[in-house]
Amino acid sequence: MGLKSLLVVSLAALGSAVPVANPLEAIRAAGPAAGVVITKCSAPNQIALAYDDGPYQYTQRLAQILSNGGAKGTFFVTGTLYGCIYNQRAAVKAAYDAGHQIASHTWSHPSNFGSMSSGDLTQQMQRLEQALVNIIGVKPTYMRPPYLATGGSVLSTMKTLGYRVITDDVDSEDWNGKTPQQSQQKFQQAGAGGNGHIPLMHETYQSTVETLTPWLINWAKQNNLKMVTVAECLGDTAAGAYVPGTSNGQGSC
Ligand SMILES: [Zn+2]
Repeated sequence: MGLKSLLVVSLAALGSAVPVANPLEAIRAAGPAAGVVITKCSAPNQIALAYDDGPYQYTQRLAQILSNGGAKGTFFVTGTLYGCIYNQRAAVKAAYDAGHQIASHTWSHPSNFGSMSSGDLTQQMQRLEQALVNIIGVKPTYMRPPYLATGGSVLSTMKTLGYRVITDDVDSEDWNGKTPQQSQQKFQQAGAGGNGHIPLMHETYQSTVETLTPWLINWAKQNNLKMVTVAECLGDTAAGAYVPGTSNGQGSC
C-alpha cells in the first residue's frame, strides 16, 4: 500500500469514526434545535421583548426606546406586510447594528401559512432571507410563524431550513384591541418568576411602541429581569442568530 492510498484509507476511517462538524452546524449547536416550537426562555431572570409584523414607521423609534432603556429587542420582520421592507432598510440596519435581533416573520405573512406546501413555505422564507442579506448582510436562523401557525408542513420545513421556531408565552393581545394597560395586566398576571417570557407584541401599533414598551422596560428593571434577544434567552450566541449569505443587489419588492 503506497503512502497516498494509506492516507486515503486513514482519512476515510477518520471520517466515519469522528463526525467532523460543519462550521455552520457548530454555530447552530449553541442554540436550540431547529423545527421545534419554543415558547419561552431557557432560564429565569430575563425577558426577550419580541415584536412582529414590521418593519414599519415605528421601527426606528422602537429600536431607540429599547436601546435607551438598556434593552435588546427582537424584531420578527416581514417582506411586504406593512409595505416593502426596503422602504425601511435604514431602520432595519440601524436596529441590527445596535444589537437588536432581526428574525423572520416570512415574506408576505400568508394567512394560510399552516396549510402551505413545503415548497411554498420555503419560498416564503428564502425571499425574506435574500432581502435581509441585501439589507444587513446575513440570514436569520430564528422565525415566528404568522398567526403562530405551526401545523401542517411548517415544522418539518423549518427543520430542513435550519430555523428555530418561536411562538410566545405571554400574548399582549395588542393585535386584539387590548389597551396597553390591559396588556400590562397580562404581564403582571404572568409574573416575573420562572423562565423568561417571550411575549407576543406588534411594532405596528404606536401604543405598543410608545406606551407598553416603556412600561415593560420599567417592569423588567423593577423585577431584575435582563432584557435580552430571543437568541440570548435561549442560550445561543449572538452570532448564532444568523448565517452568512450573498447579496443579489436587489432593492425593491
Ligand atoms: Zn404577524
